[in-house]
Amino acid sequence: MEFVILAVVIAVVALGAISGLVVSSRKKKQLPPPPPAAPKPSVTAPPAEPQVGEEAETPRDEERRTIEEVELPTAEAPEAEAAAPAAEPEAPVAPEIEVPAPTAGRLVRLRARLSRSQNSLGKGLLTLLSREHLDEETWEEIEDTLLTADVGVAPTQELVDRLRERVKVLGTRTPEGLRELLREELLTLIGTDADRTVHTANGIGNGGDEIPGVVLVVGVNGTGKTTTTGKLARVLVADGKSVVLGAADTFRAAAADQLQTWGERVGARTVRGPEGGDPASIAFDAVKEGIAESADVVLIDTAGRLHTKTGLMDELGKVKRVVEKHGPVGEVLLVLDATTGQNGLVQARVFAEVVDITGVVLTKLDGTAKGGIIVAVQRELGVPVKLVGLGEGADDLAPFEPEAFVDALIG
Ligand code: GDP
Repeated sequence: MEFVILAVVIAVVALGAISGLVVSSRKKKQLPPPPPAAPKPSVTAPPAEPQVGEEAETPRDEERRTIEEVELPTAEAPEAEAAAPAAEPEAPVAPEIEVPAPTAGRLVRLRARLSRSQNSLGKGLLTLLSREHLDEETWEEIEDTLLTADVGVAPTQELVDRLRERVKVLGTRTPEGLRELLREELLTLIGTDADRTVHTANGIGNGGDEIPGVVLVVGVNGTGKTTTTGKLARVLVADGKSVVLGAADTFRAAAADQLQTWGERVGARTVRGPEGGDPASIAFDAVKEGIAESADVVLIDTAGRLHTKTGLMDELGKVKRVVEKHGPVGEVLLVLDATTGQNGLVQARVFAEVVDITGVVLTKLDGTAKGGIIVAVQRELGVPVKLVGLGEGADDLAPFEPEAFVDALIG
């Protein structure tokens, strides 16, 4: 009996032990097993990392798409198209480096884009001048045509006075003669001997060594500043120069991504900082990078907040001063939207007071009949128009050539 009791006790104890084991092993199974903890980061970390990554990449991808969608129809370099066959959509890692279209003769090639200005200004003037009787009323209409094209009051008066005088003295009445007179007078108004080259030559740094040419691109946001900086990088690369870009427009969220995309397409590095960061320190670093890389040119895109003149002055002035710690700034380009007319002139005035503008880029000339703004803005600032934007395509930025422009205007 005692033996039976002992056996039962032993059996109970043994059962208890076994069930305990089972329970504990079950418990263990329910707990996250320690080994999986090692691979965990790659599996569970994603909730944290992909979100950050997605946020960072979505706008960039969208930006890239936006730019490419816009540019594809107008891409002008046949070599670039040949080098980038459409059957390569799966190579997002290393963007192909494009070969931008040559810059010589761009304005002539893009002359059709000036059609709006051409119709209202050049053709309008020629039609009026060809009238049987050049009476007072006709001269007034000629004046109105010039004013409507934003030529400005004083230059309009000058042009009309000179034309009247010459038509009277020379007695010119043939269409060819009148066209030639108009051509000459428009050229006088625009000016043919200003230096319209963008100064990108190397400078002598404060340490006595050569440093890259430095170009600051300024202007109100929305005028096409970042796009112009990207297009200008292409112009320089097409001319055989190496370029570093400085994304100092930290005000507009997408600007740095946008600029970097432009740079990647032609193999130019972009120096950028945190969003909302200090534009001057990015500009400084960009020039530093340009020096380190022995680049030919550093192009710096700046933010154009016209909130207050002092704010703008502080910001742009600081960018320029800080860059000048390396050496001279060779060119300060003001980007103006030609479609904004008089408003653009007001902006130009404010910028000119804040920083020494050395050249003007007039964008969106393809979308306006107000090509006369070229005359007005040069008068206003005493600075030549050096480049004109004639479309959204990558190579739609042309060196401004007065003769080609006037010839396009009067057909
Ligand atoms: P930002 O804010 O001054 O840097 O302006 P963006 O460079 O982002 O340009 C604003 C818009 O103007 C974009 O949609 C550009 O494609 C467009 N744009 C720039 N230059 C030209 C041009 O010469 N012609 C036309 N039609 N659009 C232009």
